[in-house]
Amino acid sequence: MVFSCRQCGSCCMYLGDYIVIEEQTGPFLFSCESVSTGTPFMAEIDEDKREIFSDHSFTEEHPHACRFLRPDGDLLRCTIHRDSPAQCKFYRCVALRVSDTTGTQRGNVTGALALHSDDAGLRRVWEDIIRQRPKADDEAEPWIAAFLRNKGYLVT
Ligand code: SF4
Ligand code: SF4
Repeated sequence: MVFSCRQCGSCCMYLGDYIVIEEQTGPFLFSCESVSTGTPFMAEIDEDKREIFSDHSFTEEHPHACRFLRPDGDLLRCTIHRDSPAQCKFYRCVALRVSDTTGTQRGNVTGALALHSDDAGLRRVWEDIIRQRPKADDEAEPWIAAFLRNKGYLVT
């Protein structure tokens, strides 16, 4: 299944130390750094999000959230969607959803190919996956899906 971001914003809530504003260089223009990769980048607030960006109460209430995250109705939205760093653009909180034969979801595999699950059986299968999976992530993702299907799981 193609990943579709629901814009829940939960992955951005604790990235305030990782996406750092170094300097404001214009009314809606910022010099920034992506700390985890040491990459500088320039970010201009998207034109259609300047109004919500200008309300800083969310940042004050959530000091660990990314400084570019803002509430917009029921959503939490990135206000630099155009200029956000590559790791934000390609981030997938869920790459594979893993269910048992009844359709009950047993866990998720993230885009970084980590298992999030409390299910003991699935966690045991995952130990085999870690030992045997291809090293390259692009090969590993379909391999993991096939491995889980062979073990009787539904993978979407
Ligand atoms: S990537 Fe996932 S956690 Fe992050 S905003 Fe989208 S749906 Fe939410
Ligand atoms: S730049 Fe946007 S996508 Fe990246 S952490 Fe901040 S709010 Fe989230």
